[in-house]
Amino acid sequence: MRTKIVAGNWKMNCNLSETKLLLEGLAGKVEANENQKVIVAPPFTNLHYAFECLKDSPIEVAAQNINENESGAHTGEISAKMLKGVGATYVIIGHSERRAIYKETDATLAAKTNQAIKENFKVMFCVGEELESRKAETHFEVVKSQLEKGLFQLSELEMKNVVIAYEPVWAIGTGETASPEQAQEMHAYIRKLLANKYNAETAENTSILYGGSVKPNNAKEIFGKADVDGGLIGGASLKAEDFLAIVNSL
Ligand code: PEP
Repeated sequence: MRTKIVAGNWKMNCNLSETKLLLEGLAGKVEANENQKVIVAPPFTNLHYAFECLKDSPIEVAAQNINENESGAHTGEISAKMLKGVGATYVIIGHSERRAIYKETDATLAAKTNQAIKENFKVMFCVGEELESRKAETHFEVVKSQLEKGLFQLSELEMKNVVIAYEPVWAIGTGETASPEQAQEMHAYIRKLLANKYNAETAENTSILYGGSVKPNNAKEIFGKADVDGGLIGGASLKAEDFLAIVNSL
């Protein structure tokens, strides 16, 4: 059975006191459930604090990014090895903001993924097409290429530590969501790609999350689709009440 997941990507939001408040609103309100995971991804500076605050909670902690190198002269960067010590278990890789604003290429993302897996992280690998591509109906090709170039270098065994997040760029932070049918169509396609590249078992067991303006009022319908295994949540993860409502929609 696939794990259902709701993950909150806090992006570049929340200083230490805001982190404390938000975590206080979550810890103790999420119950352990072996078929379901709840993850929060605060900025690097608050990861260890979040890990300490959530010690008695089933909520796990994710980093929003890592550097593709193991160590060395990379001023301002954070390695997978460094993250190991602060309690993060997941790393988000390939978020569309990293691809678009910081020009991370497929090759860089493949290297980041390899580093994360080498250090025994679980990877949340993001894919998704821009609006022009959706309009030109090339969205399936775009997502296929992102997966083939950034993720499919992993072995079948390594894929056990991967969660995929489908996030159409035109739906991120815009208030516009993909319809549940559009999400289901792409998720089913991704599952087919996994079956072709690996096998039916990998396809069946890989959790595929939807991301893009998921809110308490639309989560249930989107999560209700057969191939949607939860969500990666941006804006709505910054309000404990909204994030908990989305978790409860699983
Ligand atoms: C995201 O950035 O991963 C995201 C899905 O953002 P939002 O929920 O705000 O669209």
